[in-house]
Amino acid sequence: MCGIVGYTGYREAYPVVIKGLKRLEYRGYDSAGVALLNGGLKVYKKQGRVAELEEFIVGKDLHSHIGIGHTRWATHGEPSDRNAHPHTSAKGKLAMIHNGIIENYAQIKKELLNKGYLFTSDTDTEVLLNFIEDIKVNNECNLEEAVRIALKRISGAYCILLIDESDPETIIAARKGSPLVIGVGKGEHFLGSDASPMLEYTKEVVYVNDYELAIVRPDELILKNLGNEKITPFVTKLDMELAAIEKGGYDHFMLKEIFEQPSSIHDCLRGRLDASAGTITMSGIEQNIEAFKSASRIIIVACGTSWHAGLVAEYIIEELCRIPVEVEYASEFRYRNPVVNKGDIIIAISQSGETADTLVAIERAKEQGAIIFGIVNAVGSSIARISNGGAYTHAGPEIGVASTKAFTGQLAVLTMMALKIAKKKSSITDERYTQLLFELEAVPEKVDALLKNAGKIKAIAEKYKDATDALFLGRGYNFPIALEGALKLKEISYIHAEGYPAAEMKHGPIALVTDTLPVVFVATKDSYHEKIVSNIQEIKARKGLVIAIITEGDEVIAALANDVFFVPPADEMIAPMLSCVPLQLLSYYMGITRGVDVDKPRNLAKSVTVE
Ligand code: GLU
Repeated sequence: MCGIVGYTGYREAYPVVIKGLKRLEYRGYDSAGVALLNGGLKVYKKQGRVAELEEFIVGKDLHSHIGIGHTRWATHGEPSDRNAHPHTSAKGKLAMIHNGIIENYAQIKKELLNKGYLFTSDTDTEVLLNFIEDIKVNNECNLEEAVRIALKRISGAYCILLIDESDPETIIAARKGSPLVIGVGKGEHFLGSDASPMLEYTKEVVYVNDYELAIVRPDELILKNLGNEKITPFVTKLDMELAAIEKGGYDHFMLKEIFEQPSSIHDCLRGRLDASAGTITMSGIEQNIEAFKSASRIIIVACGTSWHAGLVAEYIIEELCRIPVEVEYASEFRYRNPVVNKGDIIIAISQSGETADTLVAIERAKEQGAIIFGIVNAVGSSIARISNGGAYTHAGPEIGVASTKAFTGQLAVLTMMALKIAKKKSSITDERYTQLLFELEAVPEKVDALLKNAGKIKAIAEKYKDATDALFLGRGYNFPIALEGALKLKEISYIHAEGYPAAEMKHGPIALVTDTLPVVFVATKDSYHEKIVSNIQEIKARKGLVIAIITEGDEVIAALANDVFFVPPADEMIAPMLSCVPLQLLSYYMGITRGVDVDKPRNLAKSVTVE
């Protein structure tokens, strides 16, 4: 959600900034813009894609060694040229980009209007910018000082980058709640919402923390807190290659990422799981093992697809560890004054590690004495840093807006965690433990095998492409996968879809069943098999069109369904990592046949950094 790029150094800034914005396109946005400095400020911005901005910019004066660029995901004011960032201050001396929301902007705007300020946009960003300028002029201070004073007055979330006509080498940056990474080069610095804009220039990065302010010049990076005390920047080495953020011959990132799952799941298990030795090595769990063993409750907080991974984990952890688990939407949890007891364990799940609602939810729970365990994909992200312990999913950069490989990574991590805790608690038999370890180890190979039949899903997608609605049903471990299948279809094909526990369907959704409604059953062989066969019969009796994801050799459901997709046999606890994959493919191919921009579906953002 919203991308931020900055550059100051010896190169031409515009190519660095525009390329950086393209790298951040996956985050979701509706307009884009850049500000350069050459003599005076030059601001170019446009509603629409970065490519449209580039077209608009052709022939303009772009020479500059400093630049900031932004992709906006509108929160205050419609997507339009005038609301796009960068914004220029009323006196025309400062340009600023902003990711986030200034919650008390209305009050500040009122004060500025009373002083005679005029606004050219509807954004909260322009209010903050003029507020900063007002402080700078009235206090006769430098920009850094003005930013610091302003930030102490505002509430909300922000990552801001500012440039000042009177100081043409310096970018002032600050963050609270929205991500900021600074790449350190020789005689140059790069800024980004994540590290992707700087990958080909430097591998040395500094992750800026909340309430920190950076003064960035070609040869200098100064970090301070809002109390004006210097902080030593902690330089981390990036472990990411350029190829990981490129399409690599696939038509779309989403397809590439679906097909990467055999290797991404393998990367997640590698170095942790050793089935032959009977071991799972997870330092985050080991360091907190006593807390896990004595936990009277685990609360999982997450949003969207990560929430579905949390639901699968609820079933697995309760079964294996006998610890009660609650799964909460982070956005609800953070505002509803939940009971959090000292010693409760909160597991926060987020691909980006920057999900605003999840981040605040765990900050609150931490204050109340809970132990926070983060499961994130983006290394060095905010959730990873504020957690007491955690585990990375190691899925690699996920660029497609719809989560695919990060989801299976989350399932793999959560299953390993449950097994590890269960073993330590002796709540699992040795036999079952060993069996599940081998089952888990075999997942990459099984995903690889089922992906070989992707063409079958493509044919199903073409057959049902004109559907207006779809129902996804599953039971037990596959119930959250039904929810995930429905979410994915909505996101990627814009077909209205509902996910339900298969038996619950009788309490409402069955009213929707007609001879034109596709009903996707996630029905791999498990202890609920006979029950779900009855549910399929109930749909068939009402002429619904049954698409079934089933285990190889399942003749019973194959005979009932209109269309089937087979996945390799697996234990019921492991099956979600297989059954979700054909549903990812289904939404992808449905989206493609319906002409959707599957990597950047409308209105959606990859990293949801506003609440
Ligand atoms: N609140 C700002 C706006 O609406 C920034 C949104 C963003 O994060 O892109 O312009």
